[in-house]
Amino acid sequence: MIIVMRDDATKDQIQNITQNIEDKGLKVHAITGVNNTVLGVVGDATSVDRETLALSDGIEKIVPINEPFKMANRKMHPENSVINVKGVEIGGNKLCVIAGPCSIESEDQITSVAKSVKKAGASILRGGAYKPRSSPYSFQGLKGEGLMMMVRASQKVGIPIVTEILDPRHVEMFENLADVMQIGARNMQNYELLKEVGRAKTPVLLKRGFSSTIDEWLMAAEYIMSEGNENVILCERGIRTFSKYTRNTLDLSSIPVVKNLSHLPIIVDPSHALGKSSMVESMSLAAVAAGADGLLIEVHNDPKHALCDGAQSVTPEQFTEIMNKVKKVAEAVGRQA
Ligand code: PEP
Ligand code: MN
Repeated sequence: MIIVMRDDATKDQIQNITQNIEDKGLKVHAITGVNNTVLGVVGDATSVDRETLALSDGIEKIVPINEPFKMANRKMHPENSVINVKGVEIGGNKLCVIAGPCSIESEDQITSVAKSVKKAGASILRGGAYKPRSSPYSFQGLKGEGLMMMVRASQKVGIPIVTEILDPRHVEMFENLADVMQIGARNMQNYELLKEVGRAKTPVLLKRGFSSTIDEWLMAAEYIMSEGNENVILCERGIRTFSKYTRNTLDLSSIPVVKNLSHLPIIVDPSHALGKSSMVESMSLAAVAAGADGLLIEVHNDPKHALCDGAQSVTPEQFTEIMNKVKKVAEAVGRQA
């Protein structure tokens, strides 16, 4: 439920209501706007009698939130949330393009890709150090060593980094080294991991699980936010369907649905959705046209020899070409790229 306070509500009135609700074991999330304060009640609000509460001084109205996600709900925060990653904004007018290899393979590789994608207009570098592979026999990533290579590339090139976290025990290390922690599709419902990254301050890129509904996805965001970390960026990366010509089916309709339900930014990963580099461009443009706040694109300097996801990785040249077209579509829909 949301309690909208009157314009002339006093600090004491806000404090009394907050105390009254917290005494019932619920959390209150205050949003102070230009004109008034809105109190978001987080938790199971069935113990609060709305009619009695409405008699308290200073309240303008009480709006119930029927959806199970509260913190992620647009009713709680009508404005779009803009997440700041070392000065790069995600969710504002300018699109945020994240690009880089599926996995970090060497210092030269990650540094060279970092330079090319930055030059083409990407604002964040991606790269996996800890890889969640479907087979235990596949390359599992360079782990800590890979992470350090990426940190050095980031410093050298001057671009923030996003990398996937698999283990709740790594949160402290990632907080120190990564600018954004990625929760992959396979871990979207790993609640212990979600809670642990929720206790950190580093922004989280939360990918949609390949069999997850939008409500489940927003509830995963709620797990993170309810622990205190409100810096969540959603990433649509395709879901499993009967369609056999693409790796997954890119659910672009999730963009307007999420925009309607939530204030969180949403970006699109056409690489994992399509699985083929030749199809990345068209769906990147479609995602921007549909209102995505950014893109996540896999870029490899030598896709044929990539240790992971080579078939869907575009070359730096192809990425530059995609960026040029993305800029035009962004402009057509009133955004910048
Ligand atoms: C990735 O980003 O490399 C990855 C493993 O993605 P997903 O979790 O979407 O499969
Ligand atoms: Mn990948």
